[in-house]
Amino acid sequence: MSRKSSSIPLTDYMYSKAGRNRIPISGTFELSPVCNFSCRMCYVRRTREEVEKSARPIMSLEEWLRIAEEARKAGMLYLLLTGGEPFLWPDFWTLYEQLIRMGFLISINTNGSLIDDAAVERLKRLPPRRINITLYGAGDRTYEELCRTKGVFSKVDHAITALHDAGIQVKLSCSLTPYNAVDLEKLVQYSEEKKLVLQVTTYMFPPVRRETTGIIDNNRFTPEESASYRLKCLRLQYGEKEYDTFLKKIEEGYAPPLGLDESCADPLDGKIRCRAGKACFWITWDGWMTPCGMMNEPRADIRTDSFAKAWEDLVSECDKLHTSGLCTHCRNQEICHPCAAIAQAETGKITGTPEYFCRTVQEMKRIAHERWHS
Ligand code: SF4
Ligand code: SF4
Repeated sequence: MSRKSSSIPLTDYMYSKAGRNRIPISGTFELSPVCNFSCRMCYVRRTREEVEKSARPIMSLEEWLRIAEEARKAGMLYLLLTGGEPFLWPDFWTLYEQLIRMGFLISINTNGSLIDDAAVERLKRLPPRRINITLYGAGDRTYEELCRTKGVFSKVDHAITALHDAGIQVKLSCSLTPYNAVDLEKLVQYSEEKKLVLQVTTYMFPPVRRETTGIIDNNRFTPEESASYRLKCLRLQYGEKEYDTFLKKIEEGYAPPLGLDESCADPLDGKIRCRAGKACFWITWDGWMTPCGMMNEPRADIRTDSFAKAWEDLVSECDKLHTSGLCTHCRNQEICHPCAAIAQAETGKITGTPEYFCRTVQEMKRIAHERWHS
């Protein structure tokens, strides 16, 4: 079965060409791990005090601008600004406005709670390509449960409406966990009323960026719950017909990744086949260049190295990476779509087999089987 439709959008074409030629077309600048929320499943959040005590200081405005200039020369076009909460970073507006003037197509990941009317006006003057707002619930109570923050839903709702009215493209995402699953129907309904795309993720990475001493759990679903909510969400958002088509694909052994970019997780030949370290990079708040935000290794020091040198080293290390032999030969891999970052986060090593994913896949297959054969 063909994996993609015959018409390849321009962006896909550019990414795939950049990947073949190892051009860093897309970068992420993680400006700060500080956030005004304290979500239970967060993989990155730190307090200001923790940042101040860190062995490596937080990157400065001048450092980001130097990197941006060098990255532009190397081919960067798409740029994602993220955090923590990026709007909390003190030099956010100065950096943003300069980056826009440099010609980058910028997206911003945010929890939306700090985007007031003044911020919307500023964004309207120099619009980003897109604002990605994570919705954690459909009311204050759920935000309190999951994000341990009070009275913010109305602020986030106001920001979404104001941005949309200002003509700025907004995409909603939701990290679904046992603490906000109760709101799933309401969230789907909310996105439909607002006519906005909502991307729901039921898989939460272990917080390896926050907790480096071992693989710890982060209040996430069991693999079986994750599978069941993933399918429930598909059914709610796209209806019975799409749901049945997807379950048929699971039975046939090929189903596209849900909630992930299709090219983002697919080690069919045991190598990393996603764009990380081939066309994409991530720079952490303390100055490491990594293939993606969920991986601590391989990494290059962007503080001491030029962008070109750091990218060259990263590409060379990523080319050597192999995922688990078990995954490579597994007949479920076209349903599962594991990736190097998942293997590393779940098992501590890229060659490990992420058992969480094996169980998720088994549960999806069980649900599909039950649908047709009982
Ligand atoms: S809003 Fe995002 S960065 Fe902030 S604590 Fe929650 S998950 Fe972490
Ligand atoms: S994680 Fe498990 S189910 Fe998925 S491809 Fe690897 S071995 Fe197969």
